[in-house]
Amino acid sequence: MASTTTDHDAERANELYWGSDRSVNELAEDLDLSKGALYSLIRPLPAGLECPECAGGMSYANRTARDRGYVTCEGCGLEEEEALVRIESGDASVLHESVGSPAATRTLVGTALLGVAAGFVLARLVGRGD
Ligand SMILES: [Zn+2]
Repeated sequence: MASTTTDHDAERANELYWGSDRSVNELAEDLDLSKGALYSLIRPLPAGLECPECAGGMSYANRTARDRGYVTCEGCGLEEEEALVRIESGDASVLHESVGSPAATRTLVGTALLGVAAGFVLARLVGRGD
């Protein structure tokens, strides 16, 4: 089998990347691609939001960004929290939900904890020094 990539590979790569929690290493192996080749096929996932700066389409750059609720503008490169963009774009349902809602507070706390956890893991990875 030739190892050239096709549109079909790209479609499948994106499907697997965005549709599963499997590691990039596993997916690359399954698709018979290098990790770099797999990453080059991954397209940002549209978040269905408009950029508050340039009104361009906003999307999740990768799964980590999606999990943490961060969107990136494909037009000007603005990175912003998804919740803030929704509020700025006048999505009243989000605004309403976030006022005095215990669920919204929990989400915010959870997001903060996730950030701390990610920082901790990163620090450990960096600190390992091998
Ligand atoms: Zn923009």
